[in-house]
Amino acid sequence: MQLEREVEQEYRPRMLASLQSKVDQVAAESRALVPVCPCCGRPMVYHDTRRVSWQAHWGHLQAFPSRYRCSPCKQQRRPLLELLGVEPGRICGSLARRLGLLAAVAPYELAARLAQLFLGVTISAMGVWRVAQRLGQAAASYSDALSQYHADSRSVGASVEDAPPAVILGVDGCTLGMQIRSHRRRRVGTEPLPALPPIEQGHFREVKTGVVLLPSERVETSPGRRSVVRRFLVTCLGEADEIFRRLYAQVRELGWVGPHTVVVIVGDGAEWIWKRTPMFVHRCEILDFWHALEHAWAFAHLRYGEDTAQADRWVHRIAEDLRTGKVQAVIAGLKRLRPKTGELRESLQSLISYYSENAERMRYDEYLRLGYGIGSGAVESAHKQVVHARLRQAGMRWSEAGARRLLALRLLLLNGDWALLDRLRMVSLA
Ligand SMILES: [Zn+2]
Repeated sequence: MQLEREVEQEYRPRMLASLQSKVDQVAAESRALVPVCPCCGRPMVYHDTRRVSWQAHWGHLQAFPSRYRCSPCKQQRRPLLELLGVEPGRICGSLARRLGLLAAVAPYELAARLAQLFLGVTISAMGVWRVAQRLGQAAASYSDALSQYHADSRSVGASVEDAPPAVILGVDGCTLGMQIRSHRRRRVGTEPLPALPPIEQGHFREVKTGVVLLPSERVETSPGRRSVVRRFLVTCLGEADEIFRRLYAQVRELGWVGPHTVVVIVGDGAEWIWKRTPMFVHRCEILDFWHALEHAWAFAHLRYGEDTAQADRWVHRIAEDLRTGKVQAVIAGLKRLRPKTGELRESLQSLISYYSENAERMRYDEYLRLGYGIGSGAVESAHKQVVHARLRQAGMRWSEAGARRLLALRLLLLNGDWALLDRLRMVSLA
């Protein structure tokens, strides 16, 4: 280990020097480049050349980019910096991407500590946060643009020539504690930052995750345990319409919904889901089997008591009947019950209405036969991976922009698209 470290120490400055000479080479080759104004398209006028530096993995790099201006449009450009994809005074390039990766998986404090251990880079939690904001904004803008592109019916989707016979969509949501600040907290002298105000009632935002997968790619890894070969995740902060827009964009991007594709939507019974499913013409709606049983449990506990063998037996019989597609028989059976108390009657009535309203989504025998599955477990676990594992740890609160950017980064990571960040330009945030 000691030897490894020695070699690393020895070569770090040499790698930096080698990188600097490559930068110099690019600078020399691009010297004659006169940019055009992004507004009026006319060639811009040379203004000045000043030294800039930025931080890369092995240390600071520098360059002398020329600045060009278009005074009527009040625009300026430094083509060399655009070519290199760097921002003066900031952490750039592969170091920025690695710090972004750490921030996507661990809280900023811990990410900063990991940066020291993994990369040998000393950086504050705030420094990691800043990098994550710039990268996250780039990722968020990219996925916004993708969803906008596909929302336009005139845009070209991927070919649906190989569209599968069925595709499964699911959505899940939870709330995030938001931090509402009228102004940023500022450190005064050496005083520690004042504590954040406690979360006030209503300072929550809904965050939603959507999943797209193929029923044919679900495999049973061990009895009762399924996993999927591929799944594509989308996420958004807020509105139900937005998550469905993103799901729609994702299936269009994949070319997975052709004229004969059945869109299978698995839901937990939340109204906002079923209100939006008609956007898919050929669809099959499935009420999550476990949610259906939860309602039966509620009545059984009231009637037979919690943790009683009777309640167990009663619910298991219902589960068996539902699994074999006898939802109408189950409803008829419930209607024959004559509960004694008002509370029981009310609970029974609500169970009967829930099953009656959802009967068309409870043909579980058919879903099992078609290989669609009957549960929303894949969706719930995906949502937990995207959101809970990073954004819902104890005491965490988020600004709207901060949550949106971090979600965008996690999505790239969990979708296996992290390399996309190499092609995105980091967004400079004032
Ligand atoms: Zn101009």
